[in-house]
Amino acid sequence: MTFDDLKLAEPLLRAVKAEGYTTPTPIQQQAIPPALEGRDVLGCAQTGTGKTAAFALPILQRLAAGNPPPAHGRPIRALILTPTRELASQIVESFQAYGRFTKLTWAVIFGGVGQNAQEQALRRGVDVLVATPGRLLDLMSQKLVSYKALEVFVLDEADRMLDMGFIHDVKRVIASLPQKRQTLFFSATMPPEIQALSKSLLKDPVRVEV
Ligand code: AMP
Repeated sequence: MTFDDLKLAEPLLRAVKAEGYTTPTPIQQQAIPPALEGRDVLGCAQTGTGKTAAFALPILQRLAAGNPPPAHGRPIRALILTPTRELASQIVESFQAYGRFTKLTWAVIFGGVGQNAQEQALRRGVDVLVATPGRLLDLMSQKLVSYKALEVFVLDEADRMLDMGFIHDVKRVIASLPQKRQTLFFSATMPPEIQALSKSLLKDPVRVEV
């Protein structure tokens, strides 16, 4: 299977080729087609398997195909929650790489640094927001984040969210999201609490395992 077989739009194929990728990884082969159809996906996969592209490419394709957003104050259309600053930074770099030939925009927010630059990015507006839960809740409580246009939600490394004690924060974020959305859920392991969370979040999901 090649990336052309995945029916990705031309700007995404060009970006993937510019990255030097020739063959989609197993998680990409399994997750991209249902995600492109708008299905919910439950992915059992670790970092290093190519899971970032497995969710980033379908999100970019969906958002690039949608109505062009207003020039100012574009509302968030995709939210990716991930447990650490390092993962958040890597994910936004991947959006930069895979989305470089689209007109979409993204930003990353995490704790431990000043809020100003993150606040400015939110005020300008971005299509894709990559965030860690604590800082996101801070910014939400300051009314800096609107989910009225949210279409896609990704929960990345769900089991690590649990291990790091973030699951309560994650649930608080999820409670603010619109019910009508596509959800992509990734976890390396499926302990009972994570299984229960996935059941409550996903509608008729396609399960992919690598
Ligand atoms: P991830 O699991 O998303 O953190 O990706 C792990 C690494 O694999 C990253 O350095 C990606 O750039 C790389 N990668 C992702 N997909 C592919 C692919 N289809 N072919 C080659 N490398 C890839």
